[in-house]
Amino acid sequence: MDEKTIFEKIIAGEVAAEVLLENEVAIIIRDINPQAPIHVLIIPKKKISRVGEATSEDGNLLGELLLVAKDFANANNLPSFRLVINSGRQAGETVPHLHIHLLSGRPMAWPPG
Ligand code: 5GP
Repeated sequence: MDEKTIFEKIIAGEVAAEVLLENEVAIIIRDINPQAPIHVLIIPKKKISRVGEATSEDGNLLGELLLVAKDFANANNLPSFRLVINSGRQAGETVPHLHIHLLSGRPMAWPPG
């Protein structure tokens, strides 16, 4: 069995985090190293290592995570926001537990670095 990731420890309440929302499927926490004035992480309670390893069984959950992100943006009056999912080390993934970054509060450049 893999060692628990930091996000599993946060979900289990073993490590502290600023939890902004919790429901049956996900939590939203503030990123510890924010890259924008608003930078939160939408993290499913189910451990899926990364999008690259999701299965068709995860389809509903993946859709729900986008809706959780949209609800957070609406509830916080964020008309513009960027969602980022890093899948794999070269893409910038550092925690192997799927999560969506929601960034907002500043202009965003394209292409991303
Ligand atoms: P990734 O690089 O895997 O796409 O994103 C992982 C994110 O988790 C990073 O933005 C990083 O700052 C954040 N992070 C890592 N450890 C912790 C932690 O202990 N608490 C919180 N709140 N965020 C963390």
